[in-house]
Amino acid sequence: MRVAMIGTGYVGLVSGACFADFGHVVTCIDKDPSKIERLERGEIPIFEPGLDDLVARNVREGRLFFTLEGAQAIKDADAVFIAVGTPTRRGDGHADLSYVYAAAEEIAGLIDGFTVVVTKSTVPVGTGDEVEAIIRKVRPDAQFAVVSNPEFLREGAAIEDFKRPDRVVVGTDDERAQAVMRDLYRPLSLNETPIVFTGRRTSELIKYAANAFLAMKITFINEMADLCEKVGADVQSVAKGIGLDKRIGAKFLNAGPGYGGSCFPKDTIALVKTAQQYGAPTRLIETTVEVNTARKKAMAEKVAEAMGTRELTGKTIGVLGVTFKPNTDDMRDAPSLDILPALQTMGAKVQAFDPEGAKEAAHMLAGVEFKAGAYDAAEGADALVILTEWDQFRALDLDRLKSLLKAPVVVDLRNVYKPAEMVRHGFTYASIGRS
Ligand code: NAD
Repeated sequence: MRVAMIGTGYVGLVSGACFADFGHVVTCIDKDPSKIERLERGEIPIFEPGLDDLVARNVREGRLFFTLEGAQAIKDADAVFIAVGTPTRRGDGHADLSYVYAAAEEIAGLIDGFTVVVTKSTVPVGTGDEVEAIIRKVRPDAQFAVVSNPEFLREGAAIEDFKRPDRVVVGTDDERAQAVMRDLYRPLSLNETPIVFTGRRTSELIKYAANAFLAMKITFINEMADLCEKVGADVQSVAKGIGLDKRIGAKFLNAGPGYGGSCFPKDTIALVKTAQQYGAPTRLIETTVEVNTARKKAMAEKVAEAMGTRELTGKTIGVLGVTFKPNTDDMRDAPSLDILPALQTMGAKVQAFDPEGAKEAAHMLAGVEFKAGAYDAAEGADALVILTEWDQFRALDLDRLKSLLKAPVVVDLRNVYKPAEMVRHGFTYASIGRS
């Protein structure tokens, strides 16, 4: 099969490289010249474990191409994927669909023979209808079907998630399009991945429902963590105790500083907006959004409390990790973007280290000094905050850490360390939902 992938970001590049690895011929298109230039030089513009090898192999074997100018690839394609960004629209919280519609306009002029147009971007219910209308208006004669095929990969484990997903969702009633989608994902049938065929609108909603549910699950355990702190219980045991119940499930029950990242914040807000627009408000998700926003702000207070003062002027705070989770350089809506400025507003000077996110974060976190390593971030600080649970922060030399800190205060917002061990090493230690 020939595939054109419009948008070569976290989703487009991973999906494109994985489809090429399945044996399809894939052209990844992006309008950002620097991205395409880097890819053509063999560089990967994002940090995603394993992606460099996967891309290099498929380029070498002649199945994966990159271009700024996608016309020919779109004309030749059996399937054209739209994998452009759908950020929050400024002002009203709805998803900004301008990139999706621009891609649809581009495709419209180029379709040649029966083509499946697939929205892989996360898009609100009804977007597929609009994409179809845009193409139909320009090309009343064209033979095409618009399919919804949302992506569920997680940054940091994106290749594994794409190649071994829990399920693939395909939204279309068109039988020819179903056959094309089945062929595209055929290699997954080897590991018996369920493919859920459904209506297009249902498929669009499945993606938002999944993300909203996961965001709600995180927010639930975060609230339980706050309660644990008040009543002297342990949230990790609560999570284990409820998670072993198969109806609940153990995943997504790690209490922390509040969810962030490129999907949950924008997708929960967009779902709330869609639901309000259709007169069927999703109160649980409205509350999830509110609780999570307040939580990120409250984390700065938690740090101050551990330091025993509300006045942070003259204090230096070391921060380990600024990306929203480990194994990515993605800074979009990372909790650090709320927590670090809040600490600065309280008067603190912030010095941070992140293994992969520092370059991107430096543009977004004014006044934060980025250090070369974890111990450098701790040196001379009045407190150390663990904000992202990168593996390299899991086994720090605690004696060395203590000797470098000005005051032995550690605020562990990811529950990486054991309270008893930290106390034994002489730290004042605060974590989430553990007394
Ligand atoms: P991204 O910002 O990393 O990538 C989008 C790319 O599209 C950019 O490189 C941009 O230059 C390019 N682009 C925009 N308009 C274009 C056009 N007309 N022609 C060619 N290129 C164009 O975004 P992302 O994180 O890959 O997300 C893409 C979509 O996938 C979003 O809807 C997102 O919600 C969804 N999604 C993301 C993830 C994730 O973990 N990042 C997971 C599942 C779903």
